[in-house]
Amino acid sequence: MTRRNLITGGAGFLGSHLVDRLMEAGEEVICLDNFYTGRKDNIRHWLGHPSFELIRHDVTEPIRLEIDRIWHLACPASPVHYQSNPIKTAKTSFLGTYNMLGLARRVGARLLLASTSEVYGDPEVHPQPESYRGCVNTIGIRSCYDEGKRIAETLCFDYQRMHGTEIRVMRIFNTYGPRMLPDDGRVVSNFIVQALQGLPLTLYGDGSQTRSFCYVDDLIEGMIRLMNGEHTGPINIGNPGEFTIRQLAEKVRERIQPSLQLTTQPLPQDDPLQRQPVIDLARELLGWEPKVSLDEGLEPTIAYFRERMRAVR
Ligand code: NAD
Ligand code: UDP
Repeated sequence: MTRRNLITGGAGFLGSHLVDRLMEAGEEVICLDNFYTGRKDNIRHWLGHPSFELIRHDVTEPIRLEIDRIWHLACPASPVHYQSNPIKTAKTSFLGTYNMLGLARRVGARLLLASTSEVYGDPEVHPQPESYRGCVNTIGIRSCYDEGKRIAETLCFDYQRMHGTEIRVMRIFNTYGPRMLPDDGRVVSNFIVQALQGLPLTLYGDGSQTRSFCYVDDLIEGMIRLMNGEHTGPINIGNPGEFTIRQLAEKVRERIQPSLQLTTQPLPQDDPLQRQPVIDLARELLGWEPKVSLDEGLEPTIAYFRERMRAVR
C-alpha cells in the first residue's frame, strides 16, 4: 500500500531531502510550506508528478487532510531567521505542533517531530545524552526556538498519553549539506559562501566553541528509521565528530582559498559553548550511525554552493 505522507517545511533544507527520499521510494507526498525559509526550487523537480502535491500553508493555522504520516519539520532553524520574528517562531513551534498533533489524532496518523539539540541549551553535561534535561535561558534571544521546541516535545508526549497519538521525537544536531540557503546564516553555509566570495571568514567569539556536524544524507536516513521503527524517542540523531568553529573555518578555507583571513565578531548571547550527541540509543534501537565524515561531507556541500553562485552571476 502506498503511504500518504505530509511533510511540513517540505520546501526547506532538510524537508526537501526527505521529499526526495520518499518520492524515490514510491510513496505519496504532500509538501506543505509557507516559504519563509523554503524555496520552490528545492522541490521543483517533483512538481507535476502524480504522487506529489504542494500546498502553501502556514502551520499556525489548522488544516484538514487525509494522510497516514506527518513529518513535522516546519520551523525556521537558523538563529538569524528564527530571531528575526521571535514571536512568530514561538507560535510556529507551539501552534504548529498543536495543529499537526490535532490532525494526527483526527485521522490516526503517526507524527514525527523534528526537535533539536537546542533543547539542551548551553549544556552543563558533555556530551549530551537524551536523559539530560538541559540548561535553557527562558528569557534570552534563543528561547523562542529552544523553548518552542521544548513545549513542542511536551505536546507530543501529552497527545500520546491523553489520546494515544503515535509520536516520534527526534533531536537533530547541527546538520549541513546542499540546499542550505546562501543567506541562511548558519555557520557551514556562511563560511563556504564567504570563502567562495574571497571574503574573510567570520568567527563569532574566539571560535573555540564546538559543534558536531552531521551530513544531510545521514540525518535523513536516521529520520526515516525513527519514523518506521517502534521507538518513540526522544532520540538524538547527529554525528559525534566534534570540532571547534575555528577548525571548521580552517577546513573550509583550506579547500577553497587557503590565503583567506579569519576575522572575529562578538559571540551572540547564549551561544552554546559545546555540543556533541551521545548516539548510543540511535545505534542500539535504530541500527543507525552516521557514515559521512565532516571532511567527506564538505566536498558536495562546497560543490553545491559553487554551482549556485555561478548560476546567479
Ligand atoms: P529550513 O529553514 O531550511 O526549513 C524550515 C522550513 O519550514 C522552510 O521551508 C520554511 O519555509 C518552513 N516554515 C517555517 N515556518 C513555517 C510555518 N509557520 N508554516 C509552514 N512552513 C513553515 O530549516 P531546516 O534546517 O530544514 O530544519 C527543518 C527542521 O529541522 C526544523 O524544524 C528545525 O528546527 C529542525 N532542526 C534542524 C537542524 C539543522 O541543523 N538543520 C537542527 C536541529 C533541528
Ligand atoms: N558562527 C560563527 N560564524 C558564523 C556563523 C556562526 O562563528 O558566521 C558560530 C555560532 O556563533 C555558533 C556556531 O558557529 O557558535 C554554530 O552556529 P549555527 O548558527 O550554525 O548553529 P547553532 O548555534 O544553532 O548551533
